[in-house]
Amino acid sequence: MALPGLIVFDLDFTLWDCGGLWVDCTSYPFQKREDGGIVDSDGRILRLYEDVPEILDEIDHLGIPMALASRTEQPAWAQNLLELMEIRERFAYEEIYPSSKTKHFSRIATASGVELHEMWFFDDENRNIVEVGDMGVTCVEVRNGLTRAIFDSLMP
Ligand SMILES: [Mg+2]
Repeated sequence: MALPGLIVFDLDFTLWDCGGLWVDCTSYPFQKREDGGIVDSDGRILRLYEDVPEILDEIDHLGIPMALASRTEQPAWAQNLLELMEIRERFAYEEIYPSSKTKHFSRIATASGVELHEMWFFDDENRNIVEVGDMGVTCVEVRNGLTRAIFDSLMP
C-alpha cells in the first residue's frame, strides 16, 4: 500500500483513554498535575495510549498531515484535553462535534484537497469504520487504542 496523503484519527478509545470512559462522560475541568499526568475533577487519569506519541512522531517525520474526527458531545472538553496533552497543533484539520463521520470526512476532504481514497482512518467503532469505508477511505478498526502493531500493518 502506498503512503497516504492524510491520516485521520478518532479520539476516544483510539488515541486516548479517559479512565475507561468517553471524554464526554468524564468530570470537567481537567488539570495537569506536577508530575505531568492529566486528571479530571474526580481524579480519573486521562492519557494517550502508550504507542501513540511515537506513532504521531513517525507520521510527522514522514511529512504526512494529520486530522481528527470525533463525534464527542463535549467538543470544548476534547479540545482542552488536546491542549493539555500538547498535541492539538499537530493536527492540520479538526472536526470535533456530534454528527456523522461522513460529514467530518467531507469537510476534511474539502479543506485539505486530499482525495478520500488517499486517506487512512483509525477508529474503535465499527459503525464509523463502515460509514467512512463506504466513502473510499482506508479504515482500520482498533480495539483498546492504536498500537504500533496496528499502524505498522498498514505501512508499505
Ligand atoms: Mg472512539
